[in-house]
Amino acid sequence: MNTISLAQPVFRGREREYVLECLESTRISSTGRFVDIFERDLSAFCNTTDAITCSNGTAALHLALKSLGVGPGDEVIVPALTYVATANAVVCCGGRPVFADVEADTGTICPQEIKKAITSRTRGVIAVHLYGHPADMDPITHIAREHNLFVLEDAAEAIGAQYKGKPVGSLGIAGTFSFYGNKIITCGEGGAVVTSNTELAATIRLFRGQGVDPNRTYWHPVIGFNYRMSNLLAAVALAQLEEIEWHQKRRKELFLLYDKLLNRVQDHVDLPKSRANCLPAQWLYTVRLRSGSAAERNRLADLLSADGIETRPVFYPVCALPPYAENQQVFPQSEAWASRGLCLPTHSALTEDEVEYIVSRLTLHLTCAMPEGTALTRVGSRDGIAT
Ligand SMILES: *Cc1c(COP(=O)(O)O)cnc(C)c1O
Repeated sequence: MNTISLAQPVFRGREREYVLECLESTRISSTGRFVDIFERDLSAFCNTTDAITCSNGTAALHLALKSLGVGPGDEVIVPALTYVATANAVVCCGGRPVFADVEADTGTICPQEIKKAITSRTRGVIAVHLYGHPADMDPITHIAREHNLFVLEDAAEAIGAQYKGKPVGSLGIAGTFSFYGNKIITCGEGGAVVTSNTELAATIRLFRGQGVDPNRTYWHPVIGFNYRMSNLLAAVALAQLEEIEWHQKRRKELFLLYDKLLNRVQDHVDLPKSRANCLPAQWLYTVRLRSGSAAERNRLADLLSADGIETRPVFYPVCALPPYAENQQVFPQSEAWASRGLCLPTHSALTEDEVEYIVSRLTLHLTCAMPEGTALTRVGSRDGIAT
């Protein structure tokens, strides 16, 4: 039986042509026209003045925080529910992530919880647009202004989403993206920071390229990193960006179909909800069991796996992971998402028939009480591209 994968890239544009051009021109490192064009087009897409490409989404967060001056002794407020990279990037700068709970409906950081987490050491907030849904930027920006904090957007999962008609990435001082293989557009591994703050953009470029002075060869005024994106990968990223409207449209159709077909089991699962002022991006279609424990959710995932359907649990709360667990903090909404959430296959090559099959199996398992004896040991294999 063929497994329906959770996520997979779709190359339907000029990816091959552009990669071939890199090989034939020998421009495979980080100088080359695709890096420049991709940066130009990405900043235009996000309605910002600058885009700085880099090696991955984690590097993008690290570059942005470092360039914003985060260092030892500084605290940065991050949602308790996010991919681990959001918190790790703060630690990479020598700072300390301080966790705040998320909203029940959207899973994005809760403005009131940010307020509670502010101390005299707080420097900023990272607003994560989780599973494609924009965080509530207006109240977050308002609180940040009152306390003189920066707001950085982690938009890794949400390229193309809008908050009150404005694209994510343009709402804070800067925004970061990931182009990992399971993201909405991808080049395998890649990332970018977008911003309309020219000074910040220059600092980010400096740190990205080993701290070399742009006007003086081999002169390094600061200790930087090698976080450059190669022209080969920018070639793929550009071809993907050229097709982003097609990917968005296709994902939107699949989300609508999931919504329609799952309507009947709303007694059992919560479907993705969106705030009225937002146009979310369609990353991974994520349902949440109405009740029950992580064990029940995992059994459901096992049953679907036996049906040839790859799913993925929602992230653990970051504060539950060993490096961050010292304070034994518990955030109820993040916990609920983490233990009851399940991501269903979502990618531009998924067919209507596959969605119907997935929903029919899910409906069956939800409505026939899941038999105890079927607690198959979860196949640990996580190859493929699902982080
Ligand atoms: C994917 C992701 C990242 C990290 O991106 P990489 O390219 O894998 O380093 C950061 N934050 C969030 C929310 C993500 O989903």
